[in-house]
Amino acid sequence: MKTRLDPHLHTRFSGDSTISPKLVVEQLHAHPFIKAVAITDHNTLQGYVEARKLASSYQDITIIPGIEVSTHHGDLIMLGVEEKPSYASTVWEVVDFAKARAGAIVIPHPYRINGIGDLAEKIPADAIEVINPTATLGENKMAQELAKIRNLPGVSGSDAHAPLHMWTAYTEVEAGPDIDEILKAIKKGQVKPILADAMI
Ligand SMILES: [Zn+2]
Repeated sequence: MKTRLDPHLHTRFSGDSTISPKLVVEQLHAHPFIKAVAITDHNTLQGYVEARKLASSYQDITIIPGIEVSTHHGDLIMLGVEEKPSYASTVWEVVDFAKARAGAIVIPHPYRINGIGDLAEKIPADAIEVINPTATLGENKMAQELAKIRNLPGVSGSDAHAPLHMWTAYTEVEAGPDIDEILKAIKKGQVKPILADAMI
């Protein structure tokens, strides 16, 4: 079974996005094949909490808890944890925080601005974001090389901050539409990153 997931999307709770949780839930329900999303607002779970509440009236969509933490070293995404670490964290602290709670760590846009850069070669992550439409082709290519060298799964997320950019990239996960199943499959590398060629 396959579930198509956008593991990187921002709602207005991020402070820099115009997307409402309601729009995410409605569009996910309406989308022909992307049926799961991780809300990864900057340093807050509020958008996730609201989206999860709204999603409870739909049977066909999955909302994964997520957060994009602004660490001292750059952005780091944690999936599957409904708690947030302190704002002023190092990447190592966020990794420890996630591991202690069985969460997954994804390194978003490692070589883009706000990425963690060369630290991405070292930190114990579960996956690397190898396609991000807001990064350059060169930055994405470097991320793909890194995933290969480190033998880590490569995922793709829209990093959408505006409705127009929603569903522009996603990850095909070999899993049913269950949060634990999806996270396990990501960790095992049963994923395929996809850049969508057309917006709906
Ligand atoms: Zn982001």
